[in-house]
Amino acid sequence: MKDVIVVGGGIAGMAAAWHLRHRDLLVLESEPRFGGRVRSERRGAYWLNWGGHVYAGKNSATGSLLQSVGIEAAPVPGTLKGLAFNGKVLLDGLVEAYPFRVPMSWSTRMALVKPGLKVRKAVSHYGKMVARRPNEDYWTQQQRVYDFMNDKSFRDFIGDLPEDADAFFKPTVSRSSGDPEQITAGAGVGYFNLVWSKDDGEGLTRYIVGGASTLIDTIAASLKDYCHTGAVVQEVIHKDNSVVVRYRKDEVDYEEEARYVVMATQAPITQKICKDIDKDMSAALSQIKYGPYISAAFLTNENGPQIWDKAYAIATPKRSFNVAFNMSNMVRAGEPIRQQGSSFMTFSPATFARDLWEKTDQEVIDTYLDDLNDIFPGFSKLVAESHVQRWELGLPYCFPGRAKLQPSLSRPSGRVYLAGDYLGTFYTETSIQTGATAAQHILSHLGTLDQHMS
Ligand SMILES: Cc1cc2nc3c(=O)[nH]c(=O)nc-3n(C[C@H](O)[C@H](O)[C@H](O)COP(=O)(O)OP(=O)(O)OC[C@H]3O[C@@H](n4cnc5c(N)ncnc54)[C@H](O)[C@@H]3O)c2cc1C
Repeated sequence: MKDVIVVGGGIAGMAAAWHLRHRDLLVLESEPRFGGRVRSERRGAYWLNWGGHVYAGKNSATGSLLQSVGIEAAPVPGTLKGLAFNGKVLLDGLVEAYPFRVPMSWSTRMALVKPGLKVRKAVSHYGKMVARRPNEDYWTQQQRVYDFMNDKSFRDFIGDLPEDADAFFKPTVSRSSGDPEQITAGAGVGYFNLVWSKDDGEGLTRYIVGGASTLIDTIAASLKDYCHTGAVVQEVIHKDNSVVVRYRKDEVDYEEEARYVVMATQAPITQKICKDIDKDMSAALSQIKYGPYISAAFLTNENGPQIWDKAYAIATPKRSFNVAFNMSNMVRAGEPIRQQGSSFMTFSPATFARDLWEKTDQEVIDTYLDDLNDIFPGFSKLVAESHVQRWELGLPYCFPGRAKLQPSLSRPSGRVYLAGDYLGTFYTETSIQTGATAAQHILSHLGTLDQHMS
């Protein structure tokens, strides 16, 4: 019998596996690669990216994991607050002044003032509310974050606005993968806090040198004897003092038994596979809501400096994607002479993704390039490589009423521990934190068992 089986090799599962690496361990991942919604691929000095790209700082579970694995991360250089709007690109200055620097009617500018001030004030409250209090555990903090403005939607909070005014809010809040009508006011405000904050704690402000998959691939390589891809777990069920995991790999059915299981799959999959978990937990898992994402990576081959060189993120209201990321500005920041090329990611969450979903990959690329050409004239002539990735379960978003599910999700069910981003509000940081917490609980139980047996 194994000590632990980790189901799901995304960042939550790999974080749990890393902490459990000295035990008798098995990691089962259904896809041909590890990483789940973390995916990057190297191209020389650059890397293409399709998923999680910015990570929490040194004083976080992510920081501890990176340090323990020996992976280098650094603050993202350049602006995270660029804007391309109605034909103008802004890469510096106060965000509050942007409406006065882009082409826009005075009535629209006036319509922005009240909701803008409300969001600014709420972001300031959020910033104080979210900070971890002395001796507070992760679950208590997360319950408080979910409770924050949980009873109404972000749309209810800002009200109906003219198209150009609404376009100022939509690209940021939809990054949660929910539309302003779907997510809580607190989640919308939280996203502005995330994007505006350069806090080096749990805020997402760092990039992983070499691309995000460097972390996943390093863990997978060091645990390679215990980690299997292409292993689709179908059933997880308790026995008296163990858990049985049934899975299929290369068209063969397998059964493994372990003392404990970490379920690091997305909520609906966990709910389907785990046949005998606590009823409240199962009901809570079935109510978690995800929105879709489509992302694309572009490698370009220009020879000289470009307008985007010093920017990292440029919000792109009223386009098919809502942000363009210059993934190469980390390379740019450290080079004495500008090298050839750049690496870009564009992404479309929520309604933006749904509008593109029926298109072929080539049609998605063509749609993105039309918009990129409008923003950066001549962009498509520079493109050497482009690839699309679809994420049906892109991100779990916080909807009105989500807060009351949290207590049922924050305790284990028998010998099964949950890990994943749907258990909190900090994306990869939540995945890593919950993976580490699950592992710590299991290590403590196994330690007690070892003492009894010796
Ligand atoms: C485009 C995009 C950009 C993002 N940007 C950021 C960002 O900058 N910063 C940030 O913090 N977050 C970001 N996120 C979110 C972040 O990527 C996720 O929160 C995080 O990667 C989730 O990790 P996870 O391990 O919890 O889940 P997943 O990555 O979904 O892992 C679950 C794993 O379980 C596997 N699995 C499913 N079913 C089975 C089965 N039956 N048997 C075995 N295995 C199974 C899946 O294949 C998958 O590998 C982004 C997401 C997207 C889509």
